[in-house]
Amino acid sequence: MATPVKSGEKVDAVIAGASASGSVFAATLAKAGKKVVLLETGPDWQLSAATSRAGA
Ligand SMILES: Cc1cc2nc3c(=O)[nH]c(=O)nc-3n(C[C@H](O)[C@H](O)[C@H](O)COP(=O)(O)OP(=O)(O)OC[C@H]3O[C@@H](n4cnc5c(N)ncnc54)[C@H](O)[C@@H]3O)c2cc1C
Repeated sequence: MATPVKSGEKVDAVIAGASASGSVFAATLAKAGKKVVLLETGPDWQLSAATSRAGA
């Protein structure tokens, strides 16, 4: 589960880009017990922007 990182907190990995690649790397490291920070410079988005309903 994602939780905010405190200022000065030590982490195992910092990944630039919450993209297809970056997100998978972050999830894999987190599942292995590593503390990971995922940085994203792009705009925020909602799940509804990435899904559609047939006929809607
Ligand atoms: C028009 C188009 C259509 C495509 N269609 C397909 C398709 O149908 N099927 C397919 O398999 N592939 C498709 N691709 C290719 C696919 O989008 C890419 O291969 C894939 O997104 C690459 O993923 P990535 O994780 O390497 O990088 P990206 O998806 O490019 O993500 C990089 C991320 O890093 C962030 N970032 C950049 N700099 C920083 C920084 N300094 N700090 C923090 N964050 C940063 C960016 O905001 C972005 O979110 C398409 C690409 C384009 C352009």
